[in-house]
Amino acid sequence: MRGQCLCEAVKFEVLGAAPKLYQCHCSLCRKQGGSTSNTGTVVASENFRWLSGQERISSFVKATGFRSDFCSTCGSTVPNPLRNTPYVWVPTGLFDGSEKLEIVMHLYVGSRASWDTAELSGTLFETMPEMNEFARLLQSDRAGQSDRAGQSDRAGRADRADNDS
Ligand SMILES: [Zn+2]
Ligand SMILES: [Zn+2]
Repeated sequence: MRGQCLCEAVKFEVLGAAPKLYQCHCSLCRKQGGSTSNTGTVVASENFRWLSGQERISSFVKATGFRSDFCSTCGSTVPNPLRNTPYVWVPTGLFDGSEKLEIVMHLYVGSRASWDTAELSGTLFETMPEMNEFARLLQSDRAGQSDRAGQSDRAGRADRADNDS
């Protein structure tokens, strides 16, 4: 799957199976994305490849460590390597093509904006799971195949025991 920024300078490719997606509703992601949430995924570094425009990328890092990489020309949020992990974070809105993708979890549902009232599907976390667990859920087929009804019963709880393999 290929993706690019608004001005088409920054381009990248994700190899392998289509990743699962998550949405983060925290206040930082709201500002970064300018909307209710950020929709993204993480992919293994070996499955991620820059195709062009890396030199256009600027990076903003908050004192807390939250990092936002963006295209210096058009301002689109672009992928960035996650610190101390073998993963690259990819903002889903940059993908081109019509591949069917699925949101399997929502993070920081306890921090949703008052106007963020859409019904959520998938596993809901009050904050977020530990990094390796988070990445595993996004790669795992099971995360997308779990019982939806059971998951909504656990809305707001960081209870993911059923998804442990
Ligand atoms: Zn751009
Ligand atoms: Zn967030």
